[in-house]
Amino acid sequence: MTISCDVAILGGGTGGYVAAIRAAQLGKSVVVIEMDKLGGTCLHRGCIPSKSLLRSAEVYAEINESESYGIETSGVQLVFPKVQKRKEAVVEQLHQGVQYLMRKNKIQVIKGKGRVTGPSIFSPRSGAVAVELEDGEMETVVSNHLIIATGSRPRVLPGLEPDGKVILSSDEALTLDELPSSIVIVGGGVIGVEWASMLVDFGVQVTVVEAAGQLLPQEDEEVAKELQRLLKKRGVKILTETTVDAATCKVTDDGIAIDARKGEQTQSLSAEKLLVSVGRVANVENIGLENTDIRFDKGIIAVNASMQTAEPHIYAIGDCIGGLQLAHAASHEGIMAVNHLAGEKLHPYHTHLVPRCVYTRPEVASVGHTEKEAKALGHDVVTGKFPFSAIGKAIVYGQKDGFVKVVADRSSGDILGVQMIGPHVTDLIGEAALAQLLDATPWEVGEAIHAHPTLSEIIGEAMLAVDGRSIGI
Ligand code: FAD
Repeated sequence: MTISCDVAILGGGTGGYVAAIRAAQLGKSVVVIEMDKLGGTCLHRGCIPSKSLLRSAEVYAEINESESYGIETSGVQLVFPKVQKRKEAVVEQLHQGVQYLMRKNKIQVIKGKGRVTGPSIFSPRSGAVAVELEDGEMETVVSNHLIIATGSRPRVLPGLEPDGKVILSSDEALTLDELPSSIVIVGGGVIGVEWASMLVDFGVQVTVVEAAGQLLPQEDEEVAKELQRLLKKRGVKILTETTVDAATCKVTDDGIAIDARKGEQTQSLSAEKLLVSVGRVANVENIGLENTDIRFDKGIIAVNASMQTAEPHIYAIGDCIGGLQLAHAASHEGIMAVNHLAGEKLHPYHTHLVPRCVYTRPEVASVGHTEKEAKALGHDVVTGKFPFSAIGKAIVYGQKDGFVKVVADRSSGDILGVQMIGPHVTDLIGEAALAQLLDATPWEVGEAIHAHPTLSEIIGEAMLAVDGRSIGI
């Protein structure tokens, strides 16, 4: 059977389903081809399930720390299967929501594995996708425009492929039936540190091995140092400038034995499980791109500023084009692609203004350039910094670790970046992102009235600190 539509979307993850809704809102007929579940990695193997587990870990940790709030508890029990059940219920609720949005916007969803078969016979400018349905039948989708949104999968270390028993990627870690007593996490990037924070709060012995000199290698050094200090305080063992590979790991009867390397030295580690979190690989194989003139750059689909591939009627968005590999970047790119194909006005996409959030305890969030990046770009940098220990609401919450740091250009007064570590900073970063988008100066943001007592006061204070005018300290 052949289905014709204005816009076909290959992959119904965050990028794909948001693009579909936007296209339907603009009056386009839309078909989404999804081989698994609508919502993709973010909803089923990423953001949502991991944050649900993190929330359970946070509640458990707070109950264990409740005495400092004047609350004595006894007989507190962690029932991990119930934690997993709650996670599944959260995911399912949102999954239902995405399916409802597809119905509401009259978007046709085809469940099957799609493969681009090149320009179709109906028009030299149209894309055709052959879809293998679950029952083995084939369907063809012909469209004026095609958006590729096939996402990514965990990067595997050769010889340390996930076996679901001892060696895990984040996919297997999310579905554990029970908690291990100990774990070594290879990779101290966003996923690695989130798991470290969650598992240590659940009472697991955690070791993080990171090849770079700091956790979160892309983030500000001071922020990473503070995160490292706070995780260590909670019992996480952190080995930086240290590597692990298949040659240094051996699966044993009890789990895994590792000789981690730091220069010439080796350190013996053992744990029940090994979590490999060393990045993600774009899903660009076996989707028929060889039938097109689409170009690649280091394993990701190359696109222009409007998300168009080298085939002007084919767009690509989200994790399969690399970059930040974040859900909100994928959905933004999806909306950009649709706006472009529909002839709508496009606003420039400043990738450095995409907020980056890490849901550790405490959280980390940043937008724009770090101090180091800003200096490397040639800016005459001035910074302002303010600690949560001087913010009333943070003291009330009993969460006064961390700070906000503002990086600005001394001569132009422009905000170049904002980095945060502390309570709920993933909810505070939006103000900093908006300030940068609107080209506000630190003074202007500092002049905005921030309610008291709120955590947001720290943003005003850190902005005023750029000129040495913060009130709080
Ligand atoms: P995906 O969500 O991966 O969707 C791609 C879809 O395409 C999938 O559903 C797949 O089944 C489908 N597909 C692939 N090939 C085919 C085919 N041939 N035919 C049909 N369908 C196909 N990001 C954040 O912003 N915040 C977070 O807190 C966060 N936490 C994360 C935690 C973890 C553990 C992980 C792994 C990721 C996390 N991410 C987070 C990243 C986020 O999940 C991704 O950036 C986002 O899902 C990318 O969206 P996408 O639409 O590009 O791809």
